[in-house]
Amino acid sequence: MMRKQVSRDCLFRWLLSILLLAVATGRNFAQPAPRSDADVQHFVDSLLQKMTTEEKIGQLSQLFVFDSGEKVEKTVAGGEVGSLLFITDPAAINRLQHLAVEKSRLHIPLIFGFDVIHGFRTIFPVPIAMAASWDPSLETEGQATAAKEARAVGINWAFAPMLDIARDPRWGRMVEGAGEDPYLGSAMAAAQVRGFQGDYIGAPDHVLACMKHFAGYGAAEGGRDYDGSYISDAQMGNVYLPPFHAAVKAGVGSAMSAYMDLNDVPATGNRWLLTDVLRQQWGFKGFVVSDADAVKSLVKHGYARDLHDAAVRALNAGVDMEMAQDATAFGQSLAATLKTGEISLQQIETADRRILTAKARLGLFEHPYVDQAQVANVLGAPEHRTTERMAAERSAVLLRNENGLLPLKKEAYKKIAVVGPLADSKLDTIGPWAFQEDLPETVTVVEGLKSELGAGAQISFAPGVQIARTFPSFFDKIDHSVHPPAWSAEQQDQEMQKAVDLAGSSDLAILVLGELHDMSGEAASRQSLDLPGREEELMEKVVATGKPVVLVLVNGRPLNIVWASQHVPAILEAWYPGTQGGNAVARLLAGDVVPGGKLPFSWPRNVGQIPINYAHNTTQSPEDQAKRYWDVQSTPLFPFGFGLSYSQFTFSDLRLSKAKINADESLDVTVVVENTGSYTADEVAQLYLHQQYGSGSRPVRELKGFERTELKPAERKTLRFKIGKDERTYWSAATRSWVVDPSTFDVWVGPDSSASLHASFAVTH
Ligand code: BGC
Repeated sequence: MMRKQVSRDCLFRWLLSILLLAVATGRNFAQPAPRSDADVQHFVDSLLQKMTTEEKIGQLSQLFVFDSGEKVEKTVAGGEVGSLLFITDPAAINRLQHLAVEKSRLHIPLIFGFDVIHGFRTIFPVPIAMAASWDPSLETEGQATAAKEARAVGINWAFAPMLDIARDPRWGRMVEGAGEDPYLGSAMAAAQVRGFQGDYIGAPDHVLACMKHFAGYGAAEGGRDYDGSYISDAQMGNVYLPPFHAAVKAGVGSAMSAYMDLNDVPATGNRWLLTDVLRQQWGFKGFVVSDADAVKSLVKHGYARDLHDAAVRALNAGVDMEMAQDATAFGQSLAATLKTGEISLQQIETADRRILTAKARLGLFEHPYVDQAQVANVLGAPEHRTTERMAAERSAVLLRNENGLLPLKKEAYKKIAVVGPLADSKLDTIGPWAFQEDLPETVTVVEGLKSELGAGAQISFAPGVQIARTFPSFFDKIDHSVHPPAWSAEQQDQEMQKAVDLAGSSDLAILVLGELHDMSGEAASRQSLDLPGREEELMEKVVATGKPVVLVLVNGRPLNIVWASQHVPAILEAWYPGTQGGNAVARLLAGDVVPGGKLPFSWPRNVGQIPINYAHNTTQSPEDQAKRYWDVQSTPLFPFGFGLSYSQFTFSDLRLSKAKINADESLDVTVVVENTGSYTADEVAQLYLHQQYGSGSRPVRELKGFERTELKPAERKTLRFKIGKDERTYWSAATRSWVVDPSTFDVWVGPDSSASLHASFAVTH
């Protein structure tokens, strides 16, 4: 009796102490803490000692699998594979994991990867949209939500964030990144890594992140996907690499090598990239996976002699795991390369150590399985949808709003025509790179407007036109694209007329135009930025009815909207806004929320201006436009960082804490931003820097600080930025080194990259 009492007391005290510890550390006591480095290393080393050469080679293969049938099961049970990609059914994941853990000789769990790009079941706005929020904490929250849903089904590894700087909107994958700027791109990179991985690799409800595509993929010649990139060292250091470096600093656990040639050396066989820069200069400790079939493709590049040579060159360059369909070159050739001495066992073990370390850190050896009973509670949870709607609202960019057409004056519009092929399409509301979405739960613009305004207004819809790619997308096979039968020429005219008549007989027309989900993304480049099909004609005809028109853009790249920017009074860039997209758009148009997003790229007037970036170099009377093009202005249609609000803001009192500093010092910049309009709204203060002279020429201005802040009407806030050594360091082509030059610097702070509020300071030796 006494003993029982004691043990009960003990148990009580033990539970209480754990509870107190959990409260004190803010951690749920059921959740594991990170394992120490020494512990992980010891565990991995002792495992490696037990592994056969075949098992060691097996861990270096990732297979993409759509059908988890007998062949895959055999490979898994035989310990011939380290990772699988594309399996998302929790039951199949558990079944395969049981085979790995119980049937394979050393019980090494698989790591399951998937393209969790902008959500899993709850689909968030596409990454370019999230960047347009200029809100890194929102990025973190969005990717943490995606991680939670993915982890719930047993996926432990997300192939994101994509950190490719994109300065050519013909390139379809611009939609997957943060746009043209390395500073904004770096902030969003670190934010996404934090979202996916949490505080440490293995944090509960999180996954391993994979920064991709390392590196230079966004500079594909002509914007043609997969084509080679030619990037100078200076551009590499100052533009293309910084977001990757930021992700490494944020602790990203894996990296994906890119498909294309970088300056005539394939990224996947590029030792300078994968070893010198990534590991030696940056100290990256994670593992590198190749892009899909990129190792085998080394032969197609005209680089590797055959598969054997491809395996040797990829491993020597620094690829640790090969992603491939069916069979990998590593699996087929590494054993033979050991015999020829082209590869050493030590090299294979180094790659293994990195992969097994990630598996150990993720806790896969202790908790290999997923709790299937919990899945339904996590996927598409109501709070995830609320976060998603907020993300869509915060990423929308108001491009034009003549005479305060927006927010809509509800009493004035009793009949509203919603027109356009994207207005009621669920698949196009979520955009590319979504495979596990809940389509019935996805809210289109038409649906959103009906629930927002339907009580007081009659809302009617007409698609007006049909649009399609000239060449079909290979993604059609794996996403859920259903292409309705194409309209005949006669039907096209009839549908167009129907839509125009509907607009003409309504009080207001809301046009929803842009690109289908498969017109942006991988293998979705184009040579024109025009509105596809007959969308432009539809728009011009609807405007000709004389009714007030709002244009809502659904897309992932800037399009040619020169005519619209002169003739359509209100334009809202909604991007592919995700699961709650329609509700977000309706709330923005109705004024429940005020748009506050800003463009993460310079919006060209036409395709001939590409590349056009705000951070360009210059000479020869830059103010004289005619010296650039004689047939078009040399400025973009909308500058980088641009976005309107229903409210108005002013910037004033730009002050620097010092007029002169030495090379190692920092200074503070303060500026006052005031809401002079009548709505509580957000403004994004942006700080730009320019070095007047130095060891290399520098761009006319570069973003070096930003803050999104909410202000009530008449509210003033003093914002503070720091300009330190990091903000002034750059790779100089002249000295072929990182430099911090003594010079005079210009500072501008304002609402976009054309900010005019100016100050300057000097940096001495
Ligand atoms: C893409 C990667 C993606 C991989 C796996 C490749 O084609 O370039 O971004 O992660 O496929 O789906």
